[in-house]
Amino acid sequence: MSVLDIAKGMGVTLGHLFKKPVTVRYPDEPVDIKPRFRGRHHLLRHPSGLEKCIGCSLCAAACPAYAIYVEAAENDPNDPTSPGERYAKIYEINMLRCIFCGMCEEACPTGAIVLGHEFELADFRYPDFVYGKEDMLVGTKGSKWQRREAQAKNEDVKLGFKAGPRPELEGVDY
Ligand code: SF4
Ligand code: SF4
Repeated sequence: MSVLDIAKGMGVTLGHLFKKPVTVRYPDEPVDIKPRFRGRHHLLRHPSGLEKCIGCSLCAAACPAYAIYVEAAENDPNDPTSPGERYAKIYEINMLRCIFCGMCEEACPTGAIVLGHEFELADFRYPDFVYGKEDMLVGTKGSKWQRREAQAKNEDVKLGFKAGPRPELEGVDY
């Protein structure tokens, strides 16, 4: 290795000294999420408040990881949960199986399920990775452990990212 090679190497190092670092101090500083990033699922509602999910199970059929379980029930005509005849009485996604491919979102005929931007899903016990309707219906902010932490400290859920714009997620509170 010649002196010239060493000088070239030092030149690269010195050049980077004056560039803005690409690393961030996560989780103290939030990270930027690209608009098309696919994270934790949201189950959306119609403007009337009715759930968009009609319990058809097409998402479960499309899921390559067998991560979705849907059990449908008949709507009460006097107090429907969703438009149409049926709604999802049980809707669960096993986040340990999910590979965040987005096939469920593609398959859904009503646009009920959308993969959002939340990625902080680490947890401790197996059952805490199975997300039910109450964990995914629009308006629920954060993963299970983030909500547990926030409740224990009597604080708001703090997410470690800034979300980019995405029209399908309009109405989701980040
Ligand atoms: S994102 Fe893919 S793997 Fe995850 S639940 Fe949807 S279809 Fe299944
Ligand atoms: S999320 Fe969509 S595809 Fe899945 S059960 Fe509900 S309506 Fe059907």
